[in-house]
Amino acid sequence: MYAQVIVDIAHSQVDKIFEYSCPASLQVGSRVKVPFGGRVIDGFVIGISDTCSVPPEKIKPVYSVFDELPALVPECFTLMERISMRYRVPQAASLRLFVPSEMRLGKVREAYKNYVVLKDGGISLSKSAKKQAEALEFLNKVHEAELSELAEKFGRGAVNALAEKGAVEIEKRQIKRNPFPEMDREELPKNLTPAQISAIQSIENSKNIVQLIHGVTGSGKTEIYLQIIAREIAKGKTAIFLVPEISLTPQMLSQLRARFKGEAAILHSGLSAGERFDEWWRLRSGEAKIAIGARSAIFAPLENIGAIIIDEEHDSSYISESAPRYSTTDIAKWRAEYNGCKLILGSATPSVESYLKAADGEYNLITMPERINQKPLPEIIIADMRREVKRGNNSAFSLAFREELKNTLDSGNQAIIFLNRRGYSQTVICRDCGYVAKCEHCDVSLTYHSEDNCLKCHYCGTRYKMLEACPECGGRHVRYSGTGTQRVVADLKELFPKARILRMDNDTVSGKDGHYKILSKFASHEADILVGTQMIAKGHDFPSVTLVGILDADMSLHFSDYRSGERTFQLITQVSGRSGRAGSPGKVVLQTYCPENYILRFATAYDYAGFFANEREIRKATAFPPYSLICRVMVTGEDDKQALAALKEVYFATEELKSAYPEEFLFLNRMHSPIKRIQGKHRYQVLMRLQSDKLLSKIYDIAVSNTNGSVLCYVEENPTNLS
Ligand code: ADP
Ligand code: ZN
Repeated sequence: MYAQVIVDIAHSQVDKIFEYSCPASLQVGSRVKVPFGGRVIDGFVIGISDTCSVPPEKIKPVYSVFDELPALVPECFTLMERISMRYRVPQAASLRLFVPSEMRLGKVREAYKNYVVLKDGGISLSKSAKKQAEALEFLNKVHEAELSELAEKFGRGAVNALAEKGAVEIEKRQIKRNPFPEMDREELPKNLTPAQISAIQSIENSKNIVQLIHGVTGSGKTEIYLQIIAREIAKGKTAIFLVPEISLTPQMLSQLRARFKGEAAILHSGLSAGERFDEWWRLRSGEAKIAIGARSAIFAPLENIGAIIIDEEHDSSYISESAPRYSTTDIAKWRAEYNGCKLILGSATPSVESYLKAADGEYNLITMPERINQKPLPEIIIADMRREVKRGNNSAFSLAFREELKNTLDSGNQAIIFLNRRGYSQTVICRDCGYVAKCEHCDVSLTYHSEDNCLKCHYCGTRYKMLEACPECGGRHVRYSGTGTQRVVADLKELFPKARILRMDNDTVSGKDGHYKILSKFASHEADILVGTQMIAKGHDFPSVTLVGILDADMSLHFSDYRSGERTFQLITQVSGRSGRAGSPGKVVLQTYCPENYILRFATAYDYAGFFANEREIRKATAFPPYSLICRVMVTGEDDKQALAALKEVYFATEELKSAYPEEFLFLNRMHSPIKRIQGKHRYQVLMRLQSDKLLSKIYDIAVSNTNGSVLCYVEENPTNLS
């Protein structure tokens, strides 16, 4: 027999099928080792045939097979073709998505433990073999025990002697590393509300593949997802449940484990490589039926999928930031089509793109305008910071917020303070000459961190000494400006010395369960106030939180991105949604320097429909997505000259395309990227706005054909970050 193999080298020159002879037992989807150009490398078997196109004397054999069960399910090959075609990546790069990287690189294996088992039939021991006798006596009671435990109690020598005499047997067994053992507790299923029942009915009766649940925060969307999953599992099917990474909080995980026990497997970047490997195999082997995780869990090795759910569908983490730069929703749609199942998107603030599809009838729209038990949405109080400054209040907190915070703390409730930044403060600026400290490698402003009194580059992590004086003019008035989480915590401690405060941002969160620890502490009310950045905006359900403070609502409004309005609306709605979810009604104080802004008006009124209608008109009038496609071809390389040369090539090729299809181009230009250098790589871009996606594949061609050993060119579609 002959195997058709894709070798695990993501390069266009070897992006084809190679043939090898193989044993008849080899299965499609297996990972194998094959000889290739004088080396031995890994490959994926994508087909088996009894004929081959290579002359028999030239064909080489498959050397070895990795796994008993093929790692790739048949659906992978269909998806591979679509992904490679859509995002113009070699097939090996598409297949890699389906296999956890630590497994591909051979870094982890199954974990085994040795057990000692008592065998039938007695043996006679000499009197001197005291330890052996004790070990036997112990085993008589427990019948079997871990080798390590026995060895510790009675000595490894005694156990070995017993094994040699045939009294016991040492067995090697595979063990599963369970990442969340302490979370398996009972949870009672809820009685669904009428709104939840009709949502589920609407989904089940719908003819559309894609379902969009637009439900306000706390409307019980999560329970709908869990019910749908449970129904599919009962039918013998499997399910994928995606959430933004940050929403994989301890509460969410324990809720899922409690509901589905061992049927759920969690694929999460916070797990150790070994844990992820085991969870992945539990899905592949069919032991677990529900894959739960962030973006990459869309590639879970499941067959016979009954439902795919994407919670917080608007979240930008669903777009991959490295090649292939796929949209998770695209892949999910393909998987839903292949499996003939529904794709359910849920959000309190759907993306304009998705909502437009629902408005146009492509998606089935389910609207849930009320919270569970008709609990009111929190009242949003606007604090005009211009007035505060006029009154002489230069602190980070408005008077209104201070008052509400005092009331909240007095009544024993909790508060969340949200701000859009990181670190103690932002840029370091010389007040005499205007010099701003920047990173030598990245051309971005540095951020001061008071913990270690240093400056850090947030793009590459380089640390610099805090400046004593300005390197430009020698001036002594070097200050840092703006407020960060740390500064807010310090100010809070002064105002409310008794309050227990937790801080959560990229600096305090590290390691496998950094943010779990902080959130668990807050959830069990070991703190009164949680101060944090974007991380605290999403998905958390803290019943005692009755106040949310949004300190600088304007930050994201002034971002130079066509989506800044959408982002701000989403952010305010999501953060506000943390308040008043149970018990007493919640409040939100939103501090701003431009209270008349229409986005803030819609957000404070929870008027998604108003926001959408308005935003849709703006996008239409200005021809921004979804009424156009923004495409950026990035050109990066260490050698500035070569990068520039490639940039010119890309630009000329695009201009040629423009002269052939002038009506497709709304905008075209080439330039330095806003950040001119990251990690030593020069960055250029050709930026264009296209009428439609008609020319998209041609743009991909241009990028691929100008990539070489020293310059990388790649396409970003509607990039979320234009830096
Ligand atoms: P969403 O995901 O829409 O923000 P959640 O699913 O978190 O909302 O639900 C909000 C709260 O309501 C949670 O505390 C949840 O346990 C509770 N809840 C959901 N469904 C029901 C129900 N049918 N009966 C009682 N409580 C419910
Ligand atoms: Zn840097």
